[in-house]
Amino acid sequence: MSSRAYKIAVLPGDGIGVEIVPQGIKCLDAVGARLGIAFEYTEALVGGAAIDAVGVPLPDDTLSLSMQSDAVFFGAVGGAKWDNLQPVSMRPEPGGLFPLRKALGAYANLRPVVVFESLISASSLKPDRMEGGLDILFVRELTGGIYFGKPKERREVDGETVAIDTCSYSDFEIRRIAHMAFLQARRRRGIVHSVDKANVMETSRLWREVVTEVAEQYPDVTLTNMLADNCGMQLLRDPKQFDVILADNLFGDLLTDEAAMLAGSLGMLPSASVGEQHGGLYEPIHGSAPDIAGQDKANPIATILTAAMMLRYACECPDGAVMIRSAVESVLDDGYRTVDIATPGCDVVSCSKMGDLVAQRI
Ligand code: NAD
Repeated sequence: MSSRAYKIAVLPGDGIGVEIVPQGIKCLDAVGARLGIAFEYTEALVGGAAIDAVGVPLPDDTLSLSMQSDAVFFGAVGGAKWDNLQPVSMRPEPGGLFPLRKALGAYANLRPVVVFESLISASSLKPDRMEGGLDILFVRELTGGIYFGKPKERREVDGETVAIDTCSYSDFEIRRIAHMAFLQARRRRGIVHSVDKANVMETSRLWREVVTEVAEQYPDVTLTNMLADNCGMQLLRDPKQFDVILADNLFGDLLTDEAAMLAGSLGMLPSASVGEQHGGLYEPIHGSAPDIAGQDKANPIATILTAAMMLRYACECPDGAVMIRSAVESVLDDGYRTVDIATPGCDVVSCSKMGDLVAQRI
């Protein structure tokens, strides 16, 4: 185990971000104590909290702290107070989170969807669709596509207001994310489903061409190209057919929220946003959940499992990641649940209590 302290930039953000991030830190500290790893945390502002304090969603200090850290541990940003600010670059997500991901070179978002056996009844699907275990890894392209393409504007055309978003991908961007998906599949069950809309979109046709070409370098991995709408349906019909799902930024965003319900709640899914130059940005897939913020009832498990991904990818500590996962499993097996995954007869606990329970098990 490394003897140096890992520098972690901690960016709780808004809404439930400030409630869930401390639960992840509790678990990191518990792992640190068991395995003799030191973490040096520095907290900084991002999103609406940063707008309120210093007038911008991604202050320079936050950006430089993040760039100089070994990893960024992120909560969530956004809320009604800031989501309609003008210009758009002043808003928490497009002005805070997106440029942060871009600056860190975090082009690959790894989103595992793992259904814990004891939560099968919390899923929106019939239990038989999940029995025997469900373990899907989404590899979502994160810094290109329609969220970033220019122009992105409104124009007056013949007396009508027209809004334009541009979807653009280069072969380079597609190739590097495809390699990431095939490399991940190689360590798993060796199956990649690549999702696109090659029937109607030019970017998707290039996506399919490049992914198919990259697949030739991985003869041990099976590639299936699937239309995104079909994938949405197949996830509900037979989710166990999937191992790695490779998707662009938009389709990955939509399909992972859908897949979250296989796991019972958005509050269960972690993610790692990684690239080549930096240790990465670690963020649960959900948002700031303003509807439940400030009530200590958010599910912190997505964030706790995100801490586990950080240990695996940024801190060379797969043992710590396994420890966290086992602790979560054991707490769930004992019937403890936050309200979003509550089932009859379970013990409903708060966000902070769930953090305590998992940290104690570690
Ligand atoms: P959301 O993910 O915040 O919430 C959707 C629903 O899921 C809500 O009912 C919420 O209560 C529930 N939920 C989410 N996380 C939960 C958790 N950990 N435990 C229990 N329940 C949970 O999405 P939204 O409501 O569409 O967006 C709210 C705000 O978050 C917006 O401002 C949006 O822009 C922002 N957002 C931020 C991110 C991010 O920071 N990565 C991602 C998505 C949305």
